[in-house]
Amino acid sequence: MIDGYGRSINYLRLAVTDRCNLRCHYCMPEEGINYIPRKELLSYEEMLRLVKLLANQDVHKLRITGGEPFVRKDLIHFLEAVRHQTNVQSLNITTNGTLCKPYLDTIEKLQFNSINLSLDTLDKDRFFQIARREGYDEVMDVLDAFSLMDTHLKINMVVMADSNLEDIIPMALLAKEKDIAVRFIEEMPFNGGTHRDKQNIWDHKDINKHLEKEFGPLQATDTKHGATATTYKVKDFKGQIGIIPAYSRTFCGLCNRLRITAKGVLKTCLYDDGVFDLKGFMRNGANDEDLLLAVKSALLHKAKDGFQAEHNRSGNKLMESMSTIGG
Ligand code: SAM
Ligand code: SF4
Repeated sequence: MIDGYGRSINYLRLAVTDRCNLRCHYCMPEEGINYIPRKELLSYEEMLRLVKLLANQDVHKLRITGGEPFVRKDLIHFLEAVRHQTNVQSLNITTNGTLCKPYLDTIEKLQFNSINLSLDTLDKDRFFQIARREGYDEVMDVLDAFSLMDTHLKINMVVMADSNLEDIIPMALLAKEKDIAVRFIEEMPFNGGTHRDKQNIWDHKDINKHLEKEFGPLQATDTKHGATATTYKVKDFKGQIGIIPAYSRTFCGLCNRLRITAKGVLKTCLYDDGVFDLKGFMRNGANDEDLLLAVKSALLHKAKDGFQAEHNRSGNKLMESMSTIGG
């Protein structure tokens, strides 16, 4: 799979639901969310078909995301099917962790290549202020459990000038004692229309400065091809810290990914507003060859970077919730 700029596309991010049990204020409004009706969500059979098809075309890295993936009933069986019935080589998941506890044994058996655990604070009260739902104790439990598994654990923290700056250093220090990656993400406007103070957004340079004040000059390690995070090794740290310039979009040149939203829309960039209705096409009887052709031709028009994709949107602002995109 090659895009119009000659970039090899080998990474699929699949949103299995747009629903979530939390209401993180940078992601979605607290109330009044219009969830996609269930019959408009891709079924597991449809998802498995797409994953198989793409994995056979060397899209061998898959990340399951959402919404909160574990909100969707029978997710574990879908994950097992992906592991055992497809050519996916690198299976990864992004989760808020709150619903994972009952599935820890199976999660371990699935041998995820990486688990991204989203956690924006280490303080219980602030967790509630940000997520607007309970769940802190559950996340802390699974953080410990995940860190003992044979998987690469990454903690993702969205940096918000008005909410969690005091958490940056304590969060980074988690990587001192444990061989995990702690990544700081720039806040993006994908929040379902919640008002946020744009003057008050910390970008990757602000985050870097703040970390350097504490830890001294940060030296970037070799960044993996297609990675969105710049990672740094800090002296005496077992793990790594990283910064994801999600809004500054400095990493787009080496993009290797495509996305499928929970309602089955293909996105060739996080910042586009959806380029092809795969679900509609499948439900109208498209065969595998047609489907592949549709994906390949969409990739030929993949934007050069997130700025171009934003420019090409059909007039609407960047205000959908990340939970509908599959962050
Ligand atoms: N519910 C799962 C979770 O929170 O990990 C998976 C879906 S969530 C949309 C995926 C990632 O997107 C999380 O790490 C979350 O912090 C991030 N995210 C959500 N809204 C964001 C925003 N407006 N700016 C930056 N990152 C955001
Ligand atoms: Fe839910 Fe994840 Fe969005 Fe938080 S970031 S509201 S956990 S989908």
